[in-house]
Amino acid sequence: MQGGEIQQLWESLKKTAYRPLIDNGNCHPSFSVHSKYNGYPYLRNKDDWPCCSCCGKVMPLVFQLNLSEIPVVWKENALVQYFECITRNAAGSTCEPGYPKNNSSMLRKVEIDTPTVQVPVDFNYWLGVQDSFSKIILKRISQEHSIVGWQPFDDYPSLVDFNEKMDYLNTTIGEEALDFLWENLEVLEEMEHKQCSPEDKLLGYPCWSQAEGYPRERDGEMELFFQINGLVTSNKSAIAFRDGERGMFFQNRDSGDMVFTTW
Ligand SMILES: [Zn+2]
Repeated sequence: MQGGEIQQLWESLKKTAYRPLIDNGNCHPSFSVHSKYNGYPYLRNKDDWPCCSCCGKVMPLVFQLNLSEIPVVWKENALVQYFECITRNAAGSTCEPGYPKNNSSMLRKVEIDTPTVQVPVDFNYWLGVQDSFSKIILKRISQEHSIVGWQPFDDYPSLVDFNEKMDYLNTTIGEEALDFLWENLEVLEEMEHKQCSPEDKLLGYPCWSQAEGYPRERDGEMELFFQINGLVTSNKSAIAFRDGERGMFFQNRDSGDMVFTTW
């Protein structure tokens, strides 16, 4: 297989992804329907802010995406909200927000039917903050970062997907080409500036570090909807995923299934 042919295959896999543009001006949180990191979520009623099913404490908002403001054709008058518990137990570890237990985190889709309800907020009281680490987290979650726009860029599959010979590659480029690239991964490594973005993005391909972690417990194919890099966003998001993991929000648009996983 020649260089030009490989380039062509690589281009055929290109997807448009979108980088969130952050408003660095006003970080004061407000109950609203806008896309954001941290801060206050849109609430349908005064009991709508979810609590951890493990420790019972209120879970901070990690991100909220307004599906009528994102650059896709299938807009919806709805929001996706992800909450995660930050409480640490006596042993020093957190509640278990991670996939697949999901009992101290919540990913949900809510319709925007009514104006948002506002509730009194006292994170200090809600979360029982004591140590200095928790106080840093507390400061972060009270600083809201609005997503004011989305910047398109070209995104390409993770080389891990080639290494694992994912089905979609077989379907798109064929078995023969996939076999060739699987044996010659270095030719793809040389595609400068045409790699899978590890940063925060809407759509595009999930960026794996070592092994793929596509969610499989549901029927049908799950596609990446939003990737949040705990390290890259650490100055914006209160959540830094353990061990440098990324947060991946997948969905199946046919079934409406949604999964949030860290990997
Ligand atoms: Zn908890």
